[in-house]
Amino acid sequence: MGYVKVLFGKVVIRGKVFGKGLHIGSTQGGITVGGIDSVVVRDPTTKEPYLPGSSLKGKMRMLLEKMERKLANKSISDEVFIHQCNDYVEAYKSCSSCRLFGSSGTNQGRKFKNFPGRLSVRDMPGEKGGTITEVKSENVLDRLTSQAKPRQIERVHGTFLMTLIYDMEGHSFEVYDDEQDADILELEKIKELQKEDKEKPILNFDLAKDDLRNVFRIFSLVELDSLGRSGSRGYGDIGIEITDFTAYTIDYFQAGQDQSMRETARLSFEEECRKPDARPEIKKEDKTMAVNGIEVRRVEYFDPYIHFVKEIGQFYRDAFQERAIVILSDE
Ligand SMILES: [Zn+2]
Repeated sequence: MGYVKVLFGKVVIRGKVFGKGLHIGSTQGGITVGGIDSVVVRDPTTKEPYLPGSSLKGKMRMLLEKMERKLANKSISDEVFIHQCNDYVEAYKSCSSCRLFGSSGTNQGRKFKNFPGRLSVRDMPGEKGGTITEVKSENVLDRLTSQAKPRQIERVHGTFLMTLIYDMEGHSFEVYDDEQDADILELEKIKELQKEDKEKPILNFDLAKDDLRNVFRIFSLVELDSLGRSGSRGYGDIGIEITDFTAYTIDYFQAGQDQSMRETARLSFEEECRKPDARPEIKKEDKTMAVNGIEVRRVEYFDPYIHFVKEIGQFYRDAFQERAIVILSDE
């Protein structure tokens, strides 16, 4: 194999999740509260409720897979099937979901099955003093006798601090004349681009742009979905507000104490995010499109963020144009 992965930088999205009636349950052996049948997860050090990053990430993944009509092709138990791409190349080249969220591959016989996802979603602590919990009593009624079977469920309301980190990655090809490697990534295109300079790594910002757009697309859907248990019964209502969107090149982390270098290696939209016109809002809907014969209306992305993503592309191109081959379409 003749290629290595190259880290060009990190993109950090910070925001707040406003949650109402969330129940993300703790396992047995967690903190127990007398008489409550089901308690929420809590930070073991502070005992405060938090939102696990895995809950939001899992929901985002599921929604993107539904939007992109991904096949649930891998069995993880007798009754649970999930989507996973077959191998690294497929996940990287052609799967918006696996590229963002990762894939462990399917086919035993293949090389390079695992594709580590580019997006990390951190556990979300509650804002200081910003969360409260309630114990909600519910009844299950016997359908014949109407006898009630009561249960008590703990729920949390409040504001949680969200951090998402996207790895801006590319590849460097040390050897590529082996025909077996010919299908790795966009090799045809890359061979063409690398004719003059084989040493330069490749940053495909077109793929990164898609990834970042997808994150914002899913946010608009998550708000109309739910997190945690019992979404169809009013639980898990969330809203998301982006408070910061910052891109760092790898130089930022290598600059040490050099403040001026750190400043040029960072592009932040924190101030713009605070302005009301940059708040997430669905501007309009795209024209209808046919999906499997069903007419659907495709929701427009959050406009302000798409504008920021374009600027981030230009920022990476400017930073790396001498050192790498940056694939970035004008669109
Ligand atoms: Zn996939």
